[in-house]
Amino acid sequence: MASQSEITLSEIQDFKGKYPKQLWYLFFTEMWERFCFYGNRGMLTVFMVDVLLLSDKESSLKYGAIQAFVYAFTFIGGLFADKVLGFQKSLFWGGILMIIGSVILGVSAHDYFYYGICLLIVGTGFFKPNISTMVGELYKEGDPRRDAGFGLFYAGINVGALFGGAICVYVGKSYSWDLAFLLSGGFMIVGLITFLISRSKLGPIGLAPVHEFPLKAKRNTWLVYIGTLVALPLIYIMITNTHYTDMFMYIIGPATLVYLGSEMIKLKWEENKKMFAALVFILLSILFWAFFEQSGGSLSLFAKDNLHMDLFFFNIDPNVVNNSSNSLFVVLFSPLIGLLWLWMKKKKIEPNYFVKFGMAFLFLGGAFYVFYANRFFADASGKTSLIVFTGAYFVITIAELFLSPIGLSLMTKLSPKKLWGVMMGLWFLASAYGQYVAGILGAGMASPDPKASATVKLNLFTEGYHQLAIYGIITGIVVILVAPFLKKLMKGVA
Ligand code: GLN
Repeated sequence: MASQSEITLSEIQDFKGKYPKQLWYLFFTEMWERFCFYGNRGMLTVFMVDVLLLSDKESSLKYGAIQAFVYAFTFIGGLFADKVLGFQKSLFWGGILMIIGSVILGVSAHDYFYYGICLLIVGTGFFKPNISTMVGELYKEGDPRRDAGFGLFYAGINVGALFGGAICVYVGKSYSWDLAFLLSGGFMIVGLITFLISRSKLGPIGLAPVHEFPLKAKRNTWLVYIGTLVALPLIYIMITNTHYTDMFMYIIGPATLVYLGSEMIKLKWEENKKMFAALVFILLSILFWAFFEQSGGSLSLFAKDNLHMDLFFFNIDPNVVNNSSNSLFVVLFSPLIGLLWLWMKKKKIEPNYFVKFGMAFLFLGGAFYVFYANRFFADASGKTSLIVFTGAYFVITIAELFLSPIGLSLMTKLSPKKLWGVMMGLWFLASAYGQYVAGILGAGMASPDPKASATVKLNLFTEGYHQLAIYGIITGIVVILVAPFLKKLMKGVA
């Protein structure tokens, strides 16, 4: 029998049972990375308002810009992984940068905020898309277990997000922000160690692409490392100046499409039809995340100012609920949704992927109706029910489960293998645009007056959520109506 280090791709892909065992290594590595990422993400808006003394509006915009950069760099990370580094080296490099970024914030988040954030942006770019792509590599083309694998991986993401988001914001608000940022770096160290331990079990998965000239390959690898460091000051300039953020967002999307077009010219028509389907999913996801990602922006501020602390028998910080209830619901309900698809498949009534995306929008709209409904439970001080708020998170989570894990799996189903890294990056680039628009939407809802009363803020935010609810439902209906036509693009994809 082959030793672990010599394990071949077909040995990995010919696994028995529901999941390949390598999935668990990727599950835990990603879980710790998300601990770090969501720990930081959960702190951003509150930290910018409470410590950097930005207004709600400014912090919403800044939050959107930072998150947009984070996800935009996943495209660049995916590209370099495909062409030069391979997924394993990319992950390692990304992890190191994330650790350094968190440590810098841990030293003094107040003084070095944007330096730390720059490193987190680039680090996540190299890490995030590539670990998801490696999950795709565990499966043979057409293996019907692929969606379930991504479902489990998605649960891992959310275990990390749940604890990272809750613990860091709690430590930050109650003890020290520096300590909380340092803690998130500690989580990333555990993630990286987990990955290093797992590396030998992954066989050839994620190794650098074989190059005709090894010396050239080595040089290119170093060029990527050096290029990353050279890019850091540029990123610093872009995130500290919202004007440049706008420019960056206007350029990166079209440039990406031009690049993708140049790759698609080389593909056959049958392959391109699937690529078009992937692009439709990607476009829909931009809109989805623009609504969904109110979570780290405007909903974070809503939680800070407009919610009571009672959640049934508990007394709990609403920001902790805001940061972690979504993840908790994902962990609890993603297996149920997985079972639902299996049951529907058996009965031959499983909706196609476009209908699932359409339903995601219906739930998304429904969730924003519940966020809107919060205004009817408010008292004279402008504070309202944490229970209703948490209920809305339950509905928005169902929406997410109808779209996000499926989207990851689809990227590896609909594109040829040599473009997996890029396509996964593109999937996350859609999140970048979503985040960017989310920041703008959130800023549009926020009061420009820092002294606005809680009641004024409540009315403004909930009116905004009302609008999102209406647009979410309309989009859902349109997508479901056109699904039978779009379905034709992905003939033969299970
Ligand atoms: N919550 C998921 C994750 O962290 C999806 C995020 C996204 O694509 N916007 O991976």
